[in-house]
Amino acid sequence: AEWSPEKGWDKGALKPYGPLHMMPSAQVLNYGQSVFEGMKAQRSAKGNIVLFRPDRNAARCAAGAERLSMPPLPTEQFVQAVADTVRANADYIPPIGKGSLYLRPLLLGSGPILGLGPAPSYTFTVFGAAVGAYFKGGQLTPIDLIVEEHFHRAAPGGMGGTKAAGNYSPVLVTQLAAKKNNYADVVYLDAKTDTYLEEVSSCNIFVRSGKTIKTPPLSGTILPGVTRASIIELARSRGYEVLEEPVAVTDAMEADEVFTTGTAVVVCSVGSLTYRGNKRAFTAEGQAGSTALELYTALTQLQTEQAEDPFGWVYKC
Ligand code: PMP
Repeated sequence: AEWSPEKGWDKGALKPYGPLHMMPSAQVLNYGQSVFEGMKAQRSAKGNIVLFRPDRNAARCAAGAERLSMPPLPTEQFVQAVADTVRANADYIPPIGKGSLYLRPLLLGSGPILGLGPAPSYTFTVFGAAVGAYFKGGQLTPIDLIVEEHFHRAAPGGMGGTKAAGNYSPVLVTQLAAKKNNYADVVYLDAKTDTYLEEVSSCNIFVRSGKTIKTPPLSGTILPGVTRASIIELARSRGYEVLEEPVAVTDAMEADEVFTTGTAVVVCSVGSLTYRGNKRAFTAEGQAGSTALELYTALTQLQTEQAEDPFGWVYKC
């Protein structure tokens, strides 16, 4: 779909996958007006093709658009565009349990501008690709994480709370360095005090001690994950106490269990956390933590209509 000041958003249309045409002076190429989303379409046990809480992605995309001075897409149009893309690509959705069709909605300042300012026109597009597990080793294999001590992902007052493309280029060096040292990814600390956990490059983080689970609050510097919000509700419904409050990295090192959540990783057990050269193991070799496994199972069964959906989270395309 295209946005112009005169017409607002047009209706858009399905098109074969192919290049976008933009001038070298396109705003997004020079000044970075870009927000995106990550979603999954799956086959369900009832034979439906389902999305998970797409209204949440629409709302987050709209909030990000406001932050970057872009025209937000109405929720209904966003969800419709994603559902239309899914239906048109149904042949690419793997069988249940074998993966999903990952969807990438993109909102770009595509119009040309030379001096710093918002684009005169915008493009919204959705593309997709069939995917399997996010981290190598498969969905339920625990991952080793290292606490990043040099770089921060987001600063107070910045864009950390949005899914802006510009949040992801600065983490490439840290992520690649971690991978070289056999860590799956890094955990970021807060930029003010270097004390509290923020999130991982592409997922939110949870720490469990006994029946109490803590996750960092949405203070503007971390992404309000759709999976994060869902796991908070799901864990509470299963008898856990869930607190959204700052989690000191030293407390995380003492916890019973750590796990991460995201559309791509679903719920991923953290096998170990390394901080200032100390490595703390949380799980037995290759075995997911008990709560991570419990919540992973509960969430994936709900998402694929193998279990009841009391929350009304499943969206049928
Ligand atoms: N944090 C970051 C930085 C992310 O990129 C993502 C993935 N969108 C998440 C957290 C998890 O968000 P969600 O559960 O909505 O996928």
